[in-house]
Amino acid sequence: MLNIGRVLVIDDDPIVLSALEVQLSKLGLKEITLVEAATDALEQILSANSPPFDIVICDLQMPVMDGIEFVRRLADMHYPGALILLSGENARTLQAASLLASKHKLNILGTLTKPVALNSLRETLGTFEREIVDLRGLREQIMSKEDLTQAIEQGQLILYYQPKISLADGSLKGLEAVVRWQHPRHGLINPDQFIGVAENYGLIDKLTFAVLDQAFRQMAQWRRVGKEIKVSVNVSMDNLSSLDFPEMVLSKLSEHNIDPKLLVLEITESRLMLNPDKVLDIVTRLKLKRIGLALDDFGTGHSSLAQLRDLPFDELKLDRSFVHDSTADAVRAAILHGSIQMADQLGMVWVAEGVEDLEDWIYLRQFDDGLLQGYFIGRPMRPEDLDLWQKEWQERYRALAKQRE
Ligand code: C2E
Ligand code: CA
Ligand code: CA
Repeated sequence: MLNIGRVLVIDDDPIVLSALEVQLSKLGLKEITLVEAATDALEQILSANSPPFDIVICDLQMPVMDGIEFVRRLADMHYPGALILLSGENARTLQAASLLASKHKLNILGTLTKPVALNSLRETLGTFEREIVDLRGLREQIMSKEDLTQAIEQGQLILYYQPKISLADGSLKGLEAVVRWQHPRHGLINPDQFIGVAENYGLIDKLTFAVLDQAFRQMAQWRRVGKEIKVSVNVSMDNLSSLDFPEMVLSKLSEHNIDPKLLVLEITESRLMLNPDKVLDIVTRLKLKRIGLALDDFGTGHSSLAQLRDLPFDELKLDRSFVHDSTADAVRAAILHGSIQMADQLGMVWVAEGVEDLEDWIYLRQFDDGLLQGYFIGRPMRPEDLDLWQKEWQERYRALAKQRE
């Protein structure tokens, strides 16, 4: 049973409304309000004498006020709850509408095609539980623009490093820097919970440069003890909107006296690429400056073949959703094989992310080259723990290799 408070459903078709009501009740929801017109819905939401709705489920095709206009109105009134879009149109229309809603900074849980399957409804609502129950309180309490700005400026963001190793000989090939927010009252907060917030508040440039700065300091420190380690840093698509980004990165690199070849930028299309020509310009200049480029989360909706076609990536990061557990799943295995083959043909290095257990490891051993990253090899760690990890890993690798013989 789902633990969700008030839900508002809007559809001009009363049959759809009552079908949804039955389904929502089946899932354990008790406070369900049904309306046939978006204008009535706005009135309901605005009315002061009812408690706020946690979720609004809205059809796209409606007479008078359609779903898109309704979404815009919701954004205008800063509706804080979650939104699910519903349509009989094809999936791409829904996707476009959903993109629009997230550009309006609405909390969009997902989209559903009609007729709605109970399972998809359960799944989409499930996201609400996970996201909101965990995060709503936190977000509201602490993730104001001021707090995040302060966190960046006062050095509350710290980096953890996760190793990438070579499949061929187990050696360390690089580290991915992942950011954490060391919050004075709430403890360690994961990036999934604040990167999007930083993007929405226009703080992502500040954040990225704080991260780069820290990574470069660390690399300089490693160099002083004779370690030349490649470091990958995640950048957001929003970072690739100012044309001087490559120059800024380069000047930071030279400030710390770091060879650009030791830096890899990981790029994912977490939001719409607003200006592809600009991105192409920036990315190509990064490449000319010998900075490495990785296409992150490849295989998910955010990372596409079109990006692979148009942008000069050297590294393909295969998303963990088809790395972990691919032994047991023919579809995952096929995507994995296909992507690896493609990377090989394009002369790109591939990195399998999310190598989580021994089974994943054994499965991936069938490939000859490529890099692996995941909990099985090492979790993201503080830089001071790297030496110890490396010693332990070498031993473990030797044992794994022996076992194979
Ligand atoms: P990502 O780039 O895909 O980073 C890898 C994430 O997968 C990390 O989560 C890592 O802890 C997790 N992971 C690694 N191995 C395994 C495994 O075997 N199993 C599972 N289940 N997970 C594994 P993390 O650190 O929470 O980062 C989440 C996302 O936040 C990153 O995904 C990245 O997109 C974003 N992010 C992290 N740091 C930064 C940053 O400095 N700037 C930006 N813009 N985004 C960042
Ligand atoms: Ca990454
Ligand atoms: Ca990734």
